[in-house]
Amino acid sequence: MHLRRVGEGMSELGTEFCLVCGSPPPLFGERMCESCLRKRIKLAEVPENVPWVRCARCGIVEIQGKWVNISEDEVWDELIQRNLKFHVDAEDIAVGVETRTISDRHTMIYLQLEGVIDSLLFQEEHSMRARMANGVCLTCTRRAGNYYEATVQLRSTGRKLSEEEYQNLRATLDIVRESLSDDPMFFITNEGPVTGGYDVVMGSKGLARAWGRHLTKEYGGQVVETNSTVGRKDGIDVTRLTLLYRKPGYELGDVVRWRDNHWRPSSWTKDGAILERVDRQERTGATWRDLESSQVKSRMSDHIVVDLINQDSSVGEFLDPTTWVMASVRLPWDHNGKAAIRIARIDGEWIALHSMAIDENSSIE
Ligand SMILES: [Zn+2]
Ligand SMILES: [Zn+2]
Repeated sequence: MHLRRVGEGMSELGTEFCLVCGSPPPLFGERMCESCLRKRIKLAEVPENVPWVRCARCGIVEIQGKWVNISEDEVWDELIQRNLKFHVDAEDIAVGVETRTISDRHTMIYLQLEGVIDSLLFQEEHSMRARMANGVCLTCTRRAGNYYEATVQLRSTGRKLSEEEYQNLRATLDIVRESLSDDPMFFITNEGPVTGGYDVVMGSKGLARAWGRHLTKEYGGQVVETNSTVGRKDGIDVTRLTLLYRKPGYELGDVVRWRDNHWRPSSWTKDGAILERVDRQERTGATWRDLESSQVKSRMSDHIVVDLINQDSSVGEFLDPTTWVMASVRLPWDHNGKAAIRIARIDGEWIALHSMAIDENSSIE
């Protein structure tokens, strides 16, 4: 004789019923009919209130311990991502968001959610209240305490720079800062002209170094770094960086006085410049150190090109454009009889300049 248990028999016959209400199939999830399942399962859990912190001084936002500069819409997205808990089996999730400002601290976030659980489509509406609290970010805390990590000293060699030239150099810091990713420590603590240059005191060593690299690449010259230990905090030495940038007073094409002769720098090298001598055919490389004693005698932007009215083998005559009187000049060493030459006023005298590649690319008034 063969005995069967009741449950076995029902199962074999395919006659399962909802565990909760006894309804016939179709059944979903853990053997429940659709309406029982929908009563027991939610697509998402959404908290009523969610806090967030904004710096009262500069407006940046704290996201899981980090201060970041993001828009309000990004704050809402972040709060939704962090606080919305979807059912583990939910698939094909879609989220629609609308916000309404209640007060300067409170914002309602309305959510339209959609998702599929066990092949059943769920659509739910939820809301949560974002409550903003004021804080003070690390940067503002440090700024308020005059915190700084690095000083960049802008200086020059060979020639004093004008205030405008310092301002142009300073402006490149903003370009560098924008090219780097956002960092709350990229602030300026203090800055201004000092005797013989311009100083910028800032919150980040990294920013100081990036700026130094930019300056040498664009304007030649050298950066010298000095680190000093100013104390200890939490068992770690606190160091500060001083970065001295010396911009050569000369630019490519200028006439400089160097080792008792006149030269024109024609290109930058890794540690100096290539120079071409003015009074005879000669080229030489010189390091920044070699060139420290050089003096700018005539900037390229002050050179003029004049037409020769008369010329013999060594001397040319032209109308001095500053006095409209005939003047003469010794012809450049590479002169080939052409009618126009480039001249520079140096120590009260006109000096003719040989041709350089850079001359062709520059326009002269
Ligand atoms: Zn049921
Ligand atoms: Zn702040």
